Amino acid sequence: MAADSNGVARTGGDGDLLSVESIEVSYGPIRALFGISLSVGSGEMVALIGPNGAGKSSLLHAIIGLRRPSRGRVRWRGQDITGLSTQQRIRLGMALVPEHRRILATLTVEENLLVGGMILPRRMRQTQADRMIERFEVLKRKRSQPAGVLSGGEAQQLAIARALMPSPALLLMDEPTLGLAPLVATQVFALIDELRAAGMTLIVVDQNARRVLNAADSAYLVRTGRIAQSGSADELAAREDIFGSFLGGSGDD
Ligand code: ATP
Repeated sequence: MAADSNGVARTGGDGDLLSVESIEVSYGPIRALFGISLSVGSGEMVALIGPNGAGKSSLLHAIIGLRRPSRGRVRWRGQDITGLSTQQRIRLGMALVPEHRRILATLTVEENLLVGGMILPRRMRQTQADRMIERFEVLKRKRSQPAGVLSGGEAQQLAIARALMPSPALLLMDEPTLGLAPLVATQVFALIDELRAAGMTLIVVDQNARRVLNAADSAYLVRTGRIAQSGSADELAAREDIFGSFLGGSGDD
């Protein structure tokens, strides 16, 4: 667990899959993260909640190496990986389902999957794409169609399947239900539950704070580039003040 019995988030403990230590991230003169620390144990799900612009995406990007922190460290199984590229981190076992999905609209569904498997040897790439197509019914039906024809929910499934191509140990998900109808969002959370049951470690950012807290083990509330609260997901879910003042009521369905 990333939270101890007092609900205080630990950092850098033995057995953590990932830990982030005092990360600072800036965009030119704009500071986005002011010394954020968190940790996630193997098989655990961490929820990141917080208002728009709080720094949640920046944190995920720093974890996977899309954004270099100006300070702080990222550790993977205890090893300092702060200097590694995104591709090296993907090889270690991280994957990102990016905000707004970012699927390649002119490529077919299958080609999108193959792009997700770039780090795999060619033969394994196709085998793995076939596996994903078997697993996700909608991808099977639309395998040869341009990904641009997919509905929002279908595109989200493709984005998740693409991230799963290299069989990651840690999946980072940035707003996986953004813009989806409630029923489709429910399906995405069902998929998250399935991934959890299969032992996947997850860090999930979602606007629907109540729902993501309900699914997670531990949670961090990010506000103006800092961790404002952390603890077990149950503890944060019980904090009505968080939903009222920090999230502006966005935790409601
Ligand atoms: P949202 O849910 O709106 O995506 P977030 O919590 O993910 O919010 P970030 O996207 O990480 O927050 O943004 C954190 C801060 O960094 C914000 O002030 C944002 O305006 C700024 N920021 C993010 N990306 C850039 C960028 N490419 N250039 C300049 N500033 C940026």
